[in-house]
Amino acid sequence: MNQFDIQTAALSNRRCWQIARKTLRVDPRCAQRDQLQLYVARLHDALDTIGDEYLNDPDTVEDNTNKHHGILLAVATPMIAGAYLAGYRQTSAILDQKVSPATVQLIQAEAQGRAGYMASTMTQTTRERAPVLSGDPDSDQELTQAFRGGYTFSKDRAKAATTYEMVKGYKAMVERSLRASGQSWGKWWEVSDAHEVQDDCDLNEDAGVIPIGQEFPSGDQQEPQHLFCQCSVFYTRMDL
Ligand SMILES: [Zn+2]
Repeated sequence: MNQFDIQTAALSNRRCWQIARKTLRVDPRCAQRDQLQLYVARLHDALDTIGDEYLNDPDTVEDNTNKHHGILLAVATPMIAGAYLAGYRQTSAILDQKVSPATVQLIQAEAQGRAGYMASTMTQTTRERAPVLSGDPDSDQELTQAFRGGYTFSKDRAKAATTYEMVKGYKAMVERSLRASGQSWGKWWEVSDAHEVQDDCDLNEDAGVIPIGQEFPSGDQQEPQHLFCQCSVFYTRMDL
């Protein structure tokens, strides 16, 4: 499986794309759902080769953190690059825009950098918290508990972070392609029904339609605003 599989799968699922009159509704979770699940399963399989026990063992945590980092990077990079490319290519196809090889290269490099940043951040957090276990594990119950629960470097967290980067990158590239069209596009934020507590996502929705390229009140250009954010950003032509 490579980064182009995700693009092919996404392209075959046009139901996720609704262009009605002047509005573009694209839901990356819908377009990539099946493929995303495949990749996440693959990520889990790869991470399973490590096992969970190292999380509780100060003697092996450094070795395993390095191993975990390598696996995460190797699996997540093509997933994230695939999402970036799919976002740009799909949108360009709808707009009848050519995608140059130079643009593809640029997007791939950007996505790779992003995947590297994500894996490094996770590894760094694990290292920072590891000494808690090497010292007196009872000294900071809460942190130790979080660590033992795999909060900092668990498979679930790796999955959540990778999914976040995929959706974020996918939509960032949708926007980049829309901007390359030279047309005037606006966007708005729709808060997901899954939102139970008031947060910055609500402020984003309250902002109404804003020009593409502008930040929502949370400082985000597009969803997700946080891990597990299920909100959606939609686009509309402003010059028609
Ligand atoms: Zn949200």
